[in-house]
Amino acid sequence: MERFEVNILGCGSALPTTKHFLSSQVVNLRDKLYMIDCGEGSQLQFRALKLKFQRLNSIFISHLHGDHCFGLPGLISTLGMLGRTADLHIYAQADAEKIFKPFLDYFCKELTYKVFFHSFNPAKSELIYEDRSLKVSTIPLKHRVPSAGFLFEEKPKSPHIIREMIDFYQVPTSRINTIKAGADFIAPEGQTIPNAIFTRPAEPSHKYAYCSDTAYYEKIIPLIEGVDLLYHEATFSHEDVARAKETYHSSAKQAAQIAQAAKVKKLIIGHFSARIPDENILLHEAREIFSNTILGKEGMALNV
Ligand SMILES: [Zn+2]
Ligand SMILES: [Zn+2]
Repeated sequence: MERFEVNILGCGSALPTTKHFLSSQVVNLRDKLYMIDCGEGSQLQFRALKLKFQRLNSIFISHLHGDHCFGLPGLISTLGMLGRTADLHIYAQADAEKIFKPFLDYFCKELTYKVFFHSFNPAKSELIYEDRSLKVSTIPLKHRVPSAGFLFEEKPKSPHIIREMIDFYQVPTSRINTIKAGADFIAPEGQTIPNAIFTRPAEPSHKYAYCSDTAYYEKIIPLIEGVDLLYHEATFSHEDVARAKETYHSSAKQAAQIAQAAKVKKLIIGHFSARIPDENILLHEAREIFSNTILGKEGMALNV
């Protein structure tokens, strides 16, 4: 199976504690790394998790609260010290460039690579990134400031080629790509050999959704329907639901309600408040509604 995993670098909320790092994750799709949010200390976690800096492709920032983006200047500066030459692309709201550009102009004058900011509108769902194997679209969330989650969708994979049959029918190498794309093979004698002889069905493609920070917000349900893995914030327990509402965060119960309504396969909760004495309270609360829930934890690597 090809690698598609989510690494948790930090899953604490605003107030830094010794228990958690601040929000940051790295999606590893076939050894290409995509960072989601970059709270303070994320670069240390990047190292601690033995992720390879040179494989970092792009960074997606959900919203401009410090616990999701204060790590950016440090990381960008470090990548320069490591001699990065590849362009770095950052996807965030328009203000991100306004905020970080002067900082980089001052502190990172001799950067060995270019940083490009790409802005998106967090109020609507849009495709913001695409390459050969992946599409990333935004998920508008409901928070005190404009906020968007991200849907990582693997593109459909090619079917597997059955090498023995290719050899048996002496299919020229130049025809293999068309066979992968679904074409039949016409043998030199004019006989049609059906595509199914040469291929085994492709592995299914997977989806990962990141939804943080957000209040309970049913409008995200159709956007994340059926995903293999959902990360949803659960800052508080439902006992503190009034506080969750007031601060535009969610309770563990609400995260589970969203997971259940969206029929996702697995839920991981995070963005834990420093006030929670024992996060198992959140886990039990969520599991009462959606049993396939796990607690986020720094250092965790989950297959999507
Ligand atoms: Zn936050
Ligand atoms: Zn926030």
